[in-house]
Amino acid sequence: MKKLFLSILCAGGLSLIVYAQDSTTAREHIKYLSSKELHGRGVAYDGEHLAAEYIRKNLESFGVEPLSEEYFQKYEKPAFSMEGNVIGKAEGRSLLAGEDFRIMPFSQPLNDKYRLIRVSPSDLIDNKKINEINKKYANILPHSLIYIDNTNVNFKKDKDEKKYKEVLAKLKFSSPFKAAGIIEGVDKMPTWGLAGTFHESNLAYIYVKADKISHKDKSVEFYYNNKLADYIHYNVCGMIPGTEFPEQYIVLTCHYDHLGAMGENVYFPGAHDNASGCAFVLNMAQYFREHPCKYSVVFLFFSGEESGLLGSKYFVENPLIPLGNIKYLINFDLLGGGNDGIMLVNSTEGKGLELYERLKVFNEELQLLPKISQRSNAANSDHYFFTKHKVPAIFLYTMGGKVGGYHDTSDTNENCSLTMFDNIFKLFTTMIGKEE
Ligand SMILES: [Zn+2]
Repeated sequence: MKKLFLSILCAGGLSLIVYAQDSTTAREHIKYLSSKELHGRGVAYDGEHLAAEYIRKNLESFGVEPLSEEYFQKYEKPAFSMEGNVIGKAEGRSLLAGEDFRIMPFSQPLNDKYRLIRVSPSDLIDNKKINEINKKYANILPHSLIYIDNTNVNFKKDKDEKKYKEVLAKLKFSSPFKAAGIIEGVDKMPTWGLAGTFHESNLAYIYVKADKISHKDKSVEFYYNNKLADYIHYNVCGMIPGTEFPEQYIVLTCHYDHLGAMGENVYFPGAHDNASGCAFVLNMAQYFREHPCKYSVVFLFFSGEESGLLGSKYFVENPLIPLGNIKYLINFDLLGGGNDGIMLVNSTEGKGLELYERLKVFNEELQLLPKISQRSNAANSDHYFFTKHKVPAIFLYTMGGKVGGYHDTSDTNENCSLTMFDNIFKLFTTMIGKEE
């Protein structure tokens, strides 16, 4: 009786493994990877390492081999991390971190009350005015923050407005003011990014909702820590050997890092970008372990994508398999939606076009996606440096459907509909499974 029960349980368990690679398991992966515990999978609170370890453990549990002696490929790069309490106030009124203000990731720490010095957009493009401000406030500038209201820009000449935009963009990396930092007044928070975050900057740069600062306010307070230190990043690399051509590789990639955190309570969950792609590649690994392919299938989970494709660039420069033996590579980034189908980047010519045409045939046969769209190559995700080394590579992202805001704190698991997830999975497992 006991024995019989056990064997039924085993059979049940087995079918569970075979059919486990769907959006239900994907949901579990996305839920964990985008949770507060991982603080946006950046350097702060070691979120990136927690995510790497989660992926490694999953690959190991599926029985996927490490690509070299171990799953991790390591490289080092300086990075900022903001941990602990983050407080902001305007004239004593509390500002809500994340909602009312956001601190650029490369900002110098601030821990005090600062005088607010207003600089108009027209003053900002006038070097004479800048010198005057530096002179007039010489004594208090180190204890001041320059306020530029970017919601109130009225240049008569287009060329002045163009210059203003250029000066404002440059301000983030080097300021002509001898102040502790810059506050930019905005209508809504700009799209977040990590560009330029490996270098020590000489200032703090903070976006504040313009309606949270009154024209009467004379002071602001900011308290937060931010430190630049070397950080070891890991690419997580696994493989399932091919049954006929083990020296030829089909490579499936995604990035698992995201934008990290702004202190203890604000983080960028990155469910759509790119916990969804990780869940997809994890499911692919589980699937191909059960249904081996004629070619070896390699799974690469990159770090450092948000800081400028660091992980994939490192892999291409230090490949763990001969790049010339890659039959093709598919990069999955932003898999959370799909009501309007998928976009294939780098699919307008060569091998990319061939892949597009093959996918189209399978899609028409199986009726999975409303549309497969094409665009030419761009340096917008981890496929890019492979294409620079002549590896046939395309990048897939979903179009339409409910997902959270791009590079925003609203990119949560709840906002990720995964509408076409199972269908995209079916499309790619079918195509790769039929490789002759
Ligand atoms: Zn991404």
